Amino acid sequence: MQIQRNVFREDHEMFRTTVRRFYERECVPHLADWNKAGLVDREVWRNAGREGLLCVGLPTEYGGGGGDYGHCAVMAEEAARCGVSGVTFNMHSDIIAPYIERIGSEAQKQRWLPGACTGETILGIAMTEPGTGSDLKAIRTTAVRDGDEYVINGSKTFISNGIIGDLFVVVCKTDPAAGAKGISLIVVEANREGFRRGRKLEKVGLHSQDTAELFFDNVRVPAGNLLGEEGQGFRYLMAELPQERLTIALVSAARLETMLAQTIAYVKDRKAFGQTVWDFQNTRFKLADIQAQAIAVRTLVDHYLAEHLRRRLTLEEAAVAKLFATETLGKALDEMVQLHGGYGYMLEYPIARAFVDARVNRIFGGTSEVMRELISRAL
Ligand SMILES: Cc1cc2nc3c(=O)[nH]c(=O)nc-3n(C[C@H](O)[C@H](O)[C@H](O)COP(=O)(O)OP(=O)(O)OC[C@H]3O[C@@H](n4cnc5c(N)ncnc54)[C@H](O)[C@@H]3O)c2cc1C
Repeated sequence: MQIQRNVFREDHEMFRTTVRRFYERECVPHLADWNKAGLVDREVWRNAGREGLLCVGLPTEYGGGGGDYGHCAVMAEEAARCGVSGVTFNMHSDIIAPYIERIGSEAQKQRWLPGACTGETILGIAMTEPGTGSDLKAIRTTAVRDGDEYVINGSKTFISNGIIGDLFVVVCKTDPAAGAKGISLIVVEANREGFRRGRKLEKVGLHSQDTAELFFDNVRVPAGNLLGEEGQGFRYLMAELPQERLTIALVSAARLETMLAQTIAYVKDRKAFGQTVWDFQNTRFKLADIQAQAIAVRTLVDHYLAEHLRRRLTLEEAAVAKLFATETLGKALDEMVQLHGGYGYMLEYPIARAFVDARVNRIFGGTSEVMRELISRAL
């Protein structure tokens, strides 16, 4: 019982086949090892680059795929369907590289984007600090201009790709007295003196994704590492956040559909009291509810995906997509774990992995409460 999707073109669907094959061949067999190691192999980044699967939405002149957000959406959906949760291609390609592409100078694009497209340079974005996450205006990391350089001091936490990342877009205060207007985006290469990675953080889920603290102790970078204009960082971040939130919604929709199909198969096979678990009316009713929710999520997310492809998605609409998709997924996964009994609590079962991985969708990219705040402002 699937609804017809009308949002993708034929070239997107052809691309989907390539992407799915890549994840199945290059990622799925390694997931257990990566989960144990707490990070993925760098080789998979270079392989993805070689196959043209990084920065698929970036112009070809910098090594990108020359596609649109539909191609990025395909990458995100297929990763979700294959259970490849800790590989951060979408964050790298569709969240961070676009900052450089949209607000960077020509020289910055030439310098940083080709490596991001081949997978030689892995990107991260450092906004969150130990003292503040949701309230971005309250960050305390400073960048002080000194001649032709900025001197950066402060610390960041929960940074995805914090261990394997080579280049970080760091959100800094260039004018601490100016609130949101004192925020700037500065690119920091991981080999700069005074830059230090903290420990790899142990997380509830997303075990193969490295998440770490970053420390900046008098890190000097050339003034030419400033992205866009000084003091405009908050505005740039707000402009890119809808795409990030839509991607999280897309991943959640695909996870919901995949885990529902997987749970239906499981309960039809599992026996209890001389019948299958599916035969209990409770099971069928719960799964009927989840099917209805999955269709509602799919319809809503595809509507906003189409809006985004027409460049019309607003901050509030992206918040609706993220809030509804992630909250619905979270509740549905809890029900589906229950239907698996004890196996639902074993990480070797996809439902358990999905359960622990998905919890963060309601937290990162802006919490559900922040989404509600944004939506309510438009009421
Ligand atoms: C696995 C993982 C990966 C991450 N990757 C990155 C990354 O790559 N780069 C990066 O910069 N950050 C990253 N983050 C950080 C993430 O974006 C923040 O954790 C998130 O924005 C919330 O910030 P916080 O943790 O400081 O929570 P807080 O802001 O302290 O929030 C605590 C609680 O207060 C609530 N709250 C806050 N403000 C309001 C409000 N106005 N109204 C109502 N309730 C409110 C929140 O919803 C939450 O329930 C990552 C986090 C995780 C867990």
